[in-house]
Amino acid sequence: MSGLERFLVIALGLVLGSFLNVVIHRLPRDESLVHPGSHCPACQAPVRWFHNIPVLGYLALRGRCASCGVRISPRYPLVELLTALLFSFSYLGLPADLSAAVAQFRIWIFVLIGISVTFIDLDHRIIPHTLSFGGWGVGLLTCMADYRHGPWELVLASVAGFGFFFLFGLLYEKITGRVGLGGGDVNFMGTIGVFLGFGGIWSAILISSVTGSVIGILFALWAKRQEGASSSEDGVLRLKIPYGPFLVFGALVELFFGVSSWIGL
Ligand SMILES: [Zn+2]
Repeated sequence: MSGLERFLVIALGLVLGSFLNVVIHRLPRDESLVHPGSHCPACQAPVRWFHNIPVLGYLALRGRCASCGVRISPRYPLVELLTALLFSFSYLGLPADLSAAVAQFRIWIFVLIGISVTFIDLDHRIIPHTLSFGGWGVGLLTCMADYRHGPWELVLASVAGFGFFFLFGLLYEKITGRVGLGGGDVNFMGTIGVFLGFGGIWSAILISSVTGSVIGILFALWAKRQEGASSSEDGVLRLKIPYGPFLVFGALVELFFGVSSWIGL
C-alpha cells in the first residue's frame, strides 16, 4: 500500500478508536453515544475539539484534564492506537469492486466490535447485546461478500458456535451447580462464527481456553499471595475473570494468521 493509503487507514483507525472510547464508556451505562459531547467525567467541563484529536490531544494535555487537572487514563490513547494498528494490519488494499469493499467493511466492523467487547467485559463483566446481536446482524447481512468463506458456512458456524457454548454452559451448570459461561459469551460465539466461520469458532475455543487457563492460574497465584491466606482450588475456579477478552484474542489470531488452516481444521 502507498504511503498516503497507509496514512489514511491509520487516521481512520485513530478516529474510530476515539469513538470506541465513547462506546466503551457509555454503552454499558445506557447513555447516548452522541449526546452530550465529550466532557471530563470528573468536572464535567466539555473537551475542546483540539484536545479531542486522537492521541495528540492526550499528549498535548500531558494526560490531564485542561480544566480540573484530573488524570486521564492512558487507556484512551491506547485504545486509539490499538484500533489504528489492527486496521492497518487487516487492510486488504484498495477495493476493486463493491464486494471487496464490503469484505473490508466486515473485517473492520469485527475489529471494532472485538475491541469494544474486550474493554467493556474487563470493566463490567458483560458483553452488551448491542455488540453481540448487532454484530451478528451486520455479519449476516454482509456474509455474501466474505473474502474467505461462503455464506452457508458462516451461518452454520454461527449456529454451531452459539449452540456448542450454550450446551457446554448448561452442562457445566448442571454438573458443578455454578454458572460457567455468561450469556454474553454464548451470544458472542454466534457473532464470531458469522464473521470468521468454523475456523474462528475453533480458534476462539482453543486459544481462549489455553490463554484463559494460564492467566487464570497466574492471577489466582497472585491473589493468593496478596491475601496471604490459603486459597483452595475451589477459590481458583470462582475467581471472576472475564472470558470475552480471551474469545476476542482467539478470534483475532484466526483473522490475522488463519491458525485453523495450519492445524487442518
Ligand atoms: Zn476535569
